[in-house]
Amino acid sequence: MHLVIVGNGITGVTCALTVRRLHPEARITLVSDESAHHYSRTALMYVYMGHLRLQDIKPYEDWFWPEQRLSLVHATATALNPDEQLLFLNDGTALPYDQLLLATGSKSKRYGWPGQHLAGVQSLYSLPDLEAMARDTHGISRGVVVGGGLIGVELAEMLHSRRIEPVVLVRDGHYWASVLPPAEAHLVDRQFQENQVPVRYNTELQEILGDAQGRVRAVRTTAGDEIACQWVGLATGVRPNIALATAAGIETDQGILVDELLRTNLPNVYAAGDCAQHRQPAAGEVPIEQLWYTGRMQGETVGHTICGQPTPYRRGVWFNSAKFFNLEYQTYGQAPAVATAGLQQFYWEHESGRQALRVYFRAEAPHVVVGFNAMGLRLRQVVCEQWIQARTPIATVMAQLGAANFDPEFFPQHELAIVAAFNRQFPEQPVLLKQRKGLFARFR
Ligand SMILES: Cc1cc2nc3c(=O)[nH]c(=O)nc-3n(C[C@H](O)[C@H](O)[C@H](O)COP(=O)(O)OP(=O)(O)OC[C@H]3O[C@@H](n4cnc5c(N)ncnc54)[C@H](O)[C@@H]3O)c2cc1C
Repeated sequence: MHLVIVGNGITGVTCALTVRRLHPEARITLVSDESAHHYSRTALMYVYMGHLRLQDIKPYEDWFWPEQRLSLVHATATALNPDEQLLFLNDGTALPYDQLLLATGSKSKRYGWPGQHLAGVQSLYSLPDLEAMARDTHGISRGVVVGGGLIGVELAEMLHSRRIEPVVLVRDGHYWASVLPPAEAHLVDRQFQENQVPVRYNTELQEILGDAQGRVRAVRTTAGDEIACQWVGLATGVRPNIALATAAGIETDQGILVDELLRTNLPNVYAAGDCAQHRQPAAGEVPIEQLWYTGRMQGETVGHTICGQPTPYRRGVWFNSAKFFNLEYQTYGQAPAVATAGLQQFYWEHESGRQALRVYFRAEAPHVVVGFNAMGLRLRQVVCEQWIQARTPIATVMAQLGAANFDPEFFPQHELAIVAAFNRQFPEQPVLLKQRKGLFARFR
């Protein structure tokens, strides 16, 4: 069996390693136009900030690939002949395949702003983007970051680390309004303020202005302001990279359409990770998942199917985590940004404005917990998932809150204060506690 994988990101590499484990004799080829070897995309910012070197973000040493008999091809896949099962590369090679996985990732979105192609204007997705950012921000004094999401705050932190003033434009009235409730967004805003990062809310990019050499010199906003800058970072989202699939006549919508076995409409051609769109996502799940861990899960799942063990993709309880300057964030399950019919929310915030916990639970008894947001607190993933999956009542969760505490030893413990706040907000279902070495017992 010859498995060809387009894309050596987390999805493609996880599939390759899964197939190698399940099918030791399989011939496996990974094609990538970005880098010869797999690296951790999520760690790009730390290379710019000088915390890690490029070789530190490669999860495997270069000798690993020949040792695992994984052939690496550094080229662009340009076309497909599904009848003869051939993949064509830009170097003229035609690769025969028995099974083909498209794990082509995402592309940064651009919205056709005037001036978006000027020198010094870019997004951050790939290694070439990182190199361009290092080159074009060298010696500058101010960069404008467009976008109030995860990559927006990363870009601001990256510039800040090199003493370049970032000015952040956020379309909504608060940071990451589609995901974070205003209280959590306020904690992120405090991080911006403490790091002297100016943020302009309710402000969009209108135009990027260039100088005589074709380099960015300023942006104009929808608020009518002109902000002088020498670099612009566009962090306005990503979309699935479907270029190859479209050229090959594979069915696509926003992403490459797949069934629950991650099969496309062509025989022996699969798609997984950021580029895939589920035709029928399970209830409460999104059709396109653009996360590191979902890419890994999809890569592993499709690897089983390719090896003759058909395995439907089931994501399980949603989770995500991030860091906004010094503020860690975790979310589990259903945690909407706005009030939702049938759901109640308990919110606690430490007076320092550096820790907060929000727990979402069903309004009707027995008040089953459905989701969590944690800011500045570390929760144990396995415990939160178990509570959500087991449909645990909020009173039980509150009484056992210490079981989810994943903060390192000697960090302040907040469970007593959190439960006291819960009892004040929901006096009709009091939770009484006594502390036992970080765990809590509940007494009615
Ligand atoms: C800066 C940044 C920070 C992030 N931080 C987080 C985070 O903290 N947590 C999180 O969960 N997610 C994060 N993400 C998202 C996460 O990195 C992606 O969801 C994940 O990497 C997608 O993996 P993938 O393997 O599906 O695709 P990719 O990693 O995009 O890999 C696809 C590869 O295929 C190559 N390719 C595409 N088409 C072709 C072709 N025709 N021929 C040859 N090669 C091709 C591409 O060049 C690319 O190298 C971040 C993303 C970015 C950009």
